[in-house]
Amino acid sequence: MNEKKVLVIGAGPAGMMAAGAAAESGADVVLIEKNARVGRKLAITGKGRCNITNFCDNETFIAHLTANPRFMYSAINRFSCYDTVAFFEERGLKTKVERGNRVFPESDKALDVVDALYDYVTGLGVKIILKEAKGLVIEDCAVKGIRFDDEIMYADAVIIACGGMSYRATGSTGDGYTFAKAAGHTITPLLPSLVPLNASDDDIAALQGLSLKNIRLTVTDNAAEKEVYSEKGEMLFTHFGISGPLVLSASAHMRNMSPDRYTAVIDMKPALDDETLDKRLLRDLSEFANKDLINSLGKLLPKKLIPVVIQRSGIDPHTKCNVMTVQQRHLLIEQIKRFTMHIHSFRPINEAIVTHGGVDVKDVDPRTMQSKLVKGLYFAGEVLDLDAYTGGFNLQIAYSTGRLAGESAAH
Ligand SMILES: Cc1cc2nc3c(=O)[nH]c(=O)nc-3n(C[C@H](O)[C@H](O)[C@H](O)COP(=O)(O)OP(=O)(O)OC[C@H]3O[C@@H](n4cnc5c(N)ncnc54)[C@H](O)[C@@H]3O)c2cc1C
Repeated sequence: MNEKKVLVIGAGPAGMMAAGAAAESGADVVLIEKNARVGRKLAITGKGRCNITNFCDNETFIAHLTANPRFMYSAINRFSCYDTVAFFEERGLKTKVERGNRVFPESDKALDVVDALYDYVTGLGVKIILKEAKGLVIEDCAVKGIRFDDEIMYADAVIIACGGMSYRATGSTGDGYTFAKAAGHTITPLLPSLVPLNASDDDIAALQGLSLKNIRLTVTDNAAEKEVYSEKGEMLFTHFGISGPLVLSASAHMRNMSPDRYTAVIDMKPALDDETLDKRLLRDLSEFANKDLINSLGKLLPKKLIPVVIQRSGIDPHTKCNVMTVQQRHLLIEQIKRFTMHIHSFRPINEAIVTHGGVDVKDVDPRTMQSKLVKGLYFAGEVLDLDAYTGGFNLQIAYSTGRLAGESAAH
């Protein structure tokens, strides 16, 4: 057993995994958390159910990273998605696999995941101190400890696992970037990822609260004249624009955001081509022959959407169905198949699921997570310039980098 003293800043999934791994490797570990309890963000993940990881192999995991995938090879080889599932199962947390290989606790309670990690670290004798770290103590390019308001705590190694800067109320306020920058590391530009989008179109606000299932969302980068995203799934209209699973995923492909650079197009009927949809429309119109158009589309579209689609098509909503022309039908089909929104901006970073950007991975050794600039200083989790799609991949980044940082810091 070595007597190495390791301090870990931040008791999120990365910090708890790092602290446990360091303790298992024989180090004397102190975990420092500024909140009154550990894992506050973890507790709200997956809408309170926690999508723990994705049940996939390492190549699939790497393919789902949206920043610096190559940097993650060593960490995921050391602690894979399958290792994560085994880790929790061995600690009594039963898991289940859902659509898209998403792993959840069988209990559907994110708090059970927090408890499992808490029991893991405390069971290994890790001391948890609820206190805010204020800075690092660095001498001769080596870390010597952590500074608090009222004291300095000395150590052989320090692991920064302070998370990103979204959902600040959970404690992720970007302190890790400040500490890393003060120690000479480059911080790449911080942007929201997996974030809702503000739309410029005035008529979108009327759709607030409407959620659409089984639609296709396609996003185009107008400046690059390139389609950057196209998937089928669910989305939601909000008072500011659009949100929901498809929109969050699309946002990870919109890094060059500026007002109206991107357009998002909804195909409300992806299973029907224009011709088939026209036949379907014709059927509905003949069924409601003597009614106004505005009262005849209820079988085809959600109620809230009907006036907006008709308004956009430029047809008088009180046109009788039996006088609708071929041309007018085509105008309607255009809106149903290619409902276009102009994206103004991301919602603020505080509303993002993850922060894109962070400690530049060029300053970090991927085999150990140790800083290349400051000896004994390690990084784990979202503080690094690493992020991924939804599906459990972001938490897997936290456990894999945490595991590797903890073991490396202890040795
Ligand atoms: C609403 C929401 C839902 C999500 N759902 C999922 C999901 O289902 N699956 C998934 O894979 N990912 C999900 N994510 C992303 C995931 O939660 C994060 O990627 C992950 O929590 C990052 O882990 P971390 O340990 O690096 O940082 P964090 O979880 O942010 O933890 C950092 C910790 O450091 C502490 N800290 C910060 N500064 C200091 C300081 N100066 N002193 C002491 N302590 C400090 C903070 O209080 C915090 O407890 C979700 C995110 C959000 C916001």
